[in-house]
Amino acid sequence: MLKKIPLHTQIIIGLVLGLVVGLVMIKFGVDPYIIINFVKPIGTIFINSLKMIAVPLVFASLVIGVANLGDVSKLSRIGGKTLLAYLITTIIAISIGLLLVNVFKPGKSLPQATRDSLMSLYDDTVGSKSDQAAQVTTQGPLQPLIEIVPENIVQAAADNSSMLQVVFFAIIVGIALLQIPKEKAKNFTSFFDAFNDVIIKIVEYIMLIAPYGVFALMASLIVEIAGEDPDSAVELLLALLKYTLVVLGGLFLVVFGVYYVLLKSFTKIPFITFLKAFRPAMLLGFSTSSSSATLPVTMKIVEEEIGVSEEVSSFVLPLGATVNMNGTSLYQAVAAVFIAQALGMDLTISQQLTIVLTATLAAIGSAGVPGAGLIMLIIVLEAIGVPGAGIALIIAPDRILDMFRTVVNITGDAAVCVAVASTEGELPSGMIRQSNPFTPNI
Ligand code: ASP
Repeated sequence: MLKKIPLHTQIIIGLVLGLVVGLVMIKFGVDPYIIINFVKPIGTIFINSLKMIAVPLVFASLVIGVANLGDVSKLSRIGGKTLLAYLITTIIAISIGLLLVNVFKPGKSLPQATRDSLMSLYDDTVGSKSDQAAQVTTQGPLQPLIEIVPENIVQAAADNSSMLQVVFFAIIVGIALLQIPKEKAKNFTSFFDAFNDVIIKIVEYIMLIAPYGVFALMASLIVEIAGEDPDSAVELLLALLKYTLVVLGGLFLVVFGVYYVLLKSFTKIPFITFLKAFRPAMLLGFSTSSSSATLPVTMKIVEEEIGVSEEVSSFVLPLGATVNMNGTSLYQAVAAVFIAQALGMDLTISQQLTIVLTATLAAIGSAGVPGAGLIMLIIVLEAIGVPGAGIALIIAPDRILDMFRTVVNITGDAAVCVAVASTEGELPSGMIRQSNPFTPNI
């Protein structure tokens, strides 16, 4: 029976039930012992499994992403344009997210008492705030750069806070792989291809326990927070709602601002016509929350309906499904600042710049599968000294936001692909083929 309900609905049910159970327990003054000792551990197991898969996921998907570039010399022109467009759109998306979250401050609306009790829940994860502040002030300005290069890759992989070093190493491996003889590289690449699939399968398993994990996290969060101050549970929910709206607003601006300008500047295709043609892929992205799963449909529409050549689309789109995630990067920036705000930590300008760098890398490292962006958020949090366990705070609305950010991710891939194709002299008339049932006759 449960199997028939789609996973995202199950997660929403878990979320609502967790909330209701938590609130009912508070209302009737039930001893939180059961929740803390028997329900909360399920949430902890869920978060631990997300962390468990983070290092292999990043490593495998990045090595494959870079190796997918194929023959560097042949593709360097298209590759250069594509990577530049991916990078610029990602940085703009993050900046939009940072701007909105700093203006609307969804996490700041929590009263001081709630923030303090949240902080005390997470404090043991990474020492006290004053320790971190002292650490930051003794570092030189080039410290973040030094920290990107691992002294020991095994140690970096073993320590969840050194994810950036794993990202760096994976990129170097991918580049080296492109430069050794094809014959030799073949085995290595196909091993990582399979490894990547295995990891993605494991992510699917983890997502299966997500409804229970989300239930446990919500129920225990509400009980623990409200145990100290009942009003704060309601405050927390309102803050989460505000956070969700900020992410959705940012995603909307990326699609109707950034992609609109991109298409208008480089192609003759009317933006609405592009969106209409691309609608089936957007719906699939929304319901699967996976750029990778949507990739075949994205490619089909971009090639067959919009008319981009296979040469361009088969390079730009698979790469984009792995490395270009504008929706995810925007969400990671908003989430990181929201968590910091909720924990009462003020972020400096240099920490916000660190978010731009790490969210770019985290989005590149996120696989195009459900929940990947949430896992990679840990990189951003650890880089700015916010407790990684803080993701428990935003996990509840995450599945829904995942659906929306995936739509933005794949739309970004397609928009860049169409723009790159146009700069290569394709699509000169700006007409979209009329075989698409969603496209009006033009
Ligand atoms: N689900 C997203 C995608 O596949 C990645 C993420 O943000 O979790 O594009």
